[in-house]
Amino acid sequence: MCGIVAYIGSREAYPIILKGLKRLEYRGYDSSGVALLNSGLKVYKKKGKVADLEETLIGKDMHANVGIGHTRWATHGEPSDCNAHPHMSQNGKLAMIHNGIIENYAQLKTELIKKGYEFKSDTDTEVLLNFIENILQNNNCPLEEAVRIALKRIVGAYVIVLIDQDNPDTLIAARKGSPLVIGIGKGEHFLASDASPIIEYTKEVVYVNDYEVAIIKSDELILKNLGNERQTPYITKLDMELAAIEKGGYEHFMLKEIFEQPTTIFDCLRGRLDAHAGTITMKGIDEYAEELKNANRIVIVACGTSWHAGLVAEYIFEELCRVNVEVEYASEFRYRNPVINKGDVIIAISQSGETADTLVAIENAKEKGAIILGVVNVVGSSIARTSHGGAYTHAGPEIGVASTKAFTAQLAILVMIALKVGFEKGTIEEKRYRQLLIDLEAIPQKVEVVLKDHEKIKALAEKYMDAPDFLYLGRGYNFPVALEGALKLKEISYIHAEGYPAAEMKHGPIALVDEKLPVVFIATKDVYHQKVLSNMQEIKARKGKVIAVITEGDTHTPTITNDLMIIPETDEILAPMLSVIHLQLLAYYIGIAKGCDVDKPRNLAKSVTVE
Ligand code: GLU
Repeated sequence: MCGIVAYIGSREAYPIILKGLKRLEYRGYDSSGVALLNSGLKVYKKKGKVADLEETLIGKDMHANVGIGHTRWATHGEPSDCNAHPHMSQNGKLAMIHNGIIENYAQLKTELIKKGYEFKSDTDTEVLLNFIENILQNNNCPLEEAVRIALKRIVGAYVIVLIDQDNPDTLIAARKGSPLVIGIGKGEHFLASDASPIIEYTKEVVYVNDYEVAIIKSDELILKNLGNERQTPYITKLDMELAAIEKGGYEHFMLKEIFEQPTTIFDCLRGRLDAHAGTITMKGIDEYAEELKNANRIVIVACGTSWHAGLVAEYIFEELCRVNVEVEYASEFRYRNPVINKGDVIIAISQSGETADTLVAIENAKEKGAIILGVVNVVGSSIARTSHGGAYTHAGPEIGVASTKAFTAQLAILVMIALKVGFEKGTIEEKRYRQLLIDLEAIPQKVEVVLKDHEKIKALAEKYMDAPDFLYLGRGYNFPVALEGALKLKEISYIHAEGYPAAEMKHGPIALVDEKLPVVFIATKDVYHQKVLSNMQEIKARKGKVIAVITEGDTHTPTITNDLMIIPETDEILAPMLSVIHLQLLAYYIGIAKGCDVDKPRNLAKSVTVE
């Protein structure tokens, strides 16, 4: 999820692109770069923030009226100068920026290598660019035609913008899945991932649709579909403030990230899960399939929300893979002199990939001979580099300090690993395996359904915002969700909240229950459901307020509860990916109602790089 900016017109392109990239840096800041077309095509790029690039360019002649720029959030290839965009095609005539993932890049790369292509980067982007160049050369056609031909073979998501040394008066752009806005000025055009780099120059914009190719000159914008038919550009007038645009129109990054979850889970499954074929492909896991299959023990190390994802995974791995699983707080694990035997597999979970405790924990375990697999969001981060293998969550940069979309993406990865291992081990029946793949594929859509409840959750938040304490209860897969719900509330609203296994509540927390205490039950359909209902009755008998997350179609539970949140039906293993969304929204709206700074809660930091 990187940021792209481009300009064509009569102004200096570089300052416009630079300023635009700084506004888009929230989308990724692994590296940045610009390509400018003056007398020739020049590309400048650098690992790190836009400011690092800017510094290296001071004093250089950056004059040009056409240019493209990129700020990267790496998906393929670590953050580095050579993986930074723009990429240049092999003959040096084309430069391209890309936002998205080309899923079939490996196959295309093999084809191009056979044709004599050499690659300077590890990115999927350079593959697509050379694929386009190759078509251009073979067909001797205009660039827009080569782009159309190429895109018909592409699987994945993209916004691409190309600049061509032989046609300096035209930019070619296309989109599928990733965002592209074109600003229309007088004799000039601005392109960007969102309107924030454009708004100060023009309020008239065109949102490019999927499968459209834009042919852009200073004074002309032509849109065509992949069948070369002209499409009418629909011009929209922007009436938003800059800050609102960076947050995609949401009031806070946290809310934006909660609402991004249908897309982020989809992105995480994309190119990996094929329910139709019954396959899961994850290169960094496939390489360690034998070790996972034969593991005596899986130890999951993590902190905070990632630790909760690990707890859900413990239940899932034990159920589907029949393997002994332990979930450890990294901070405890690293100092405890844990017993690690050969044949142990350690799974480290971290959004940032820089969590200090988790990093040291896996370094120690690695020395003792364990296989380390990382489940990490940030490509090229320390944990990713220290791990033997693993999988990226591809959730895009998470800016809100309280983790939301990283959690559901972690769950998606962990479920896929468990399904893969269980199926290969023969500990899960083919029928259940196939059904779970289908159910998992449907999760992004179901998250969308849950998000439609946001107004209802907001009202619920306003009803309970003055409670001094909350209790969150659940059993089985729902117990870690209870912990996560309580953690979100604490982080965001500063209300004291505790998560507990619903049955364990009798051994202490029940003493807290009175008519003022809201108790949130995660009571979705599962094998424990009847038992959870009994726990609800126990709370009700003591006048506690019962709020429950239930599965649609459950007619009995509403007769006990004060308030409800409803998720669509799914397998119990996958339900945490849905029920947690309500709890994220509840915490968010309570935080807002109490006037808290939800994106930057007091005392917290996004990436905990100290112990
Ligand atoms: N897949 C490309 C890369 O890794 C683009 C990344 C993105 O859109 O975030 O360079």
